[in-house]
Amino acid sequence: MKKKILVIHTGGTISMSEDEKTGAVTPNESNPLTKKTEELVEFAHLIIDEPFNLPSPHITPTEMLKIREHISQRILSDKIDGVVITHGTDTLEETAYFLDLTLASTLPIVVTGAMRSSNEIGADGLYNLISSIKVASSDEARGKGVLVVLNDEIHTAENVTKTHTSNISTFQSPQYGPIGIVTKRGVVFHHSPTRAECYPISDVSKKVVLIKAHAGMDSTLLDAINALPCDGIVIEALGQGNLPPATLPGIKALINNNIPVVFVSRCFNGIAQDTYAYEGGGKQLKEMGVIFSNGLNGQKARLKLLILLATTTDRNQIEQAFAI
Ligand code: ASP
Repeated sequence: MKKKILVIHTGGTISMSEDEKTGAVTPNESNPLTKKTEELVEFAHLIIDEPFNLPSPHITPTEMLKIREHISQRILSDKIDGVVITHGTDTLEETAYFLDLTLASTLPIVVTGAMRSSNEIGADGLYNLISSIKVASSDEARGKGVLVVLNDEIHTAENVTKTHTSNISTFQSPQYGPIGIVTKRGVVFHHSPTRAECYPISDVSKKVVLIKAHAGMDSTLLDAINALPCDGIVIEALGQGNLPPATLPGIKALINNNIPVVFVSRCFNGIAQDTYAYEGGGKQLKEMGVIFSNGLNGQKARLKLLILLATTTDRNQIEQAFAI
């Protein structure tokens, strides 16, 4: 029997077109791939929705929540077997991870996009969309969390990141690699995620700041953040999780103000840990109360902290959730 797949178009390059004269890429009224997809996809029954049409730099946690609600309603009303979301690639990994953390469903949920707009030579949108519908129709994709499918690769929402400004193989999972591939014959998984988390929140109002550490950094920016309405901060720290000594007063003041300070590494491989015992080293920062995150990149740790803060302000609970 044909699987019933919900396709949600949200905008992005996959639904845009290029002006032949100027080369400018702009949004269309609606996704131009809808008709072609319906013609080409015979293996699934499609329900196609377009709740909004936004370039992905316009997407906020409010839209992410809207997508989550949309999926939850369709699961209840339409007995769907899988979901594909088309999305701009700039913030695709954030929406995918938000859905991964907040949707309590074992259905295959796939997020996809395109690097070339719909009328460009070598446009990758239709191909990625059809590949994603294949993955969403696969029984093996159940229970693997939210997946990101582009360029014949299947990635987890947790590990995938956009690594190139324009190349169609931009989506990679540094350190871990994809968990499956899409071939001409079908969908093949060669790994499975080992854990899942779910925080079914409906409040996305917390203010969480993300900043990157650098050589010569001091407390100026940290002090400015401390004076703002701010519920949490994620810092892309140096190496294994260290900071210049001049930031220590700023970090201390944030922690004294009960603002959770979460560390990821600005290295795109590896996990931040409390290894070094020199001034500004991870050991000292952990003792001060900094929370070390388990391998997420900065933008995903920021979303996770925003989600966690909607459920608790307890520092230890937040620390435990980042240790998973
Ligand atoms: N700037 C575009 C967006 O994220 C890029 C893309 O979709 O590939 O909406």
